[in-house]
Amino acid sequence: MMDRHTGPDRAGSQPGASSSELPPLSSLFQQLVLEHYKKPRNRGELPGAHVDVRMNNPSCGDTVRLQLRFDGDRIAEARFLGDGCSISQASVSMMTQVLEGKSVAEAQSLIERMKAMMHGDEAAARDKALGDLRALAGVHRFPVRVRCALLGWNALEEALRQKGG
Ligand code: ZN
Repeated sequence: MMDRHTGPDRAGSQPGASSSELPPLSSLFQQLVLEHYKKPRNRGELPGAHVDVRMNNPSCGDTVRLQLRFDGDRIAEARFLGDGCSISQASVSMMTQVLEGKSVAEAQSLIERMKAMMHGDEAAARDKALGDLRALAGVHRFPVRVRCALLGWNALEEALRQKGG
């Protein structure tokens, strides 16, 4: 309602064509998202991973495989593989960047921050702990794309569950 218009009508009817379309985020943020999409950080297989989680988002066709290697309670390395729209892949790329060296508890609090931001929490959107992920704050206005942005985070949640269990 606070938007000038409710979004392009053409999106949605062509899943294939629209899957990589970005919602109208500010251009600076779009650039950052596209930068991660084109040059993902920590993409590849992780030898010696302790957990290995695959998730998919059927509504958009996104897939993510997240691998973590722990050093005691800390995440020593995080790598991912995946396919899908720019938001899903940029979000998981940005996520692996902020995860390295974090304890399990810190990673869990990042998950909560990210989810809060995806529910429109403005304090979360200003939290420096989220790093480049703050570029995705505007996605909260597009519920279908929120699933894309949270795909890697759902994989992280499951990975931490497996590590704890
Ligand atoms: Zn997607």
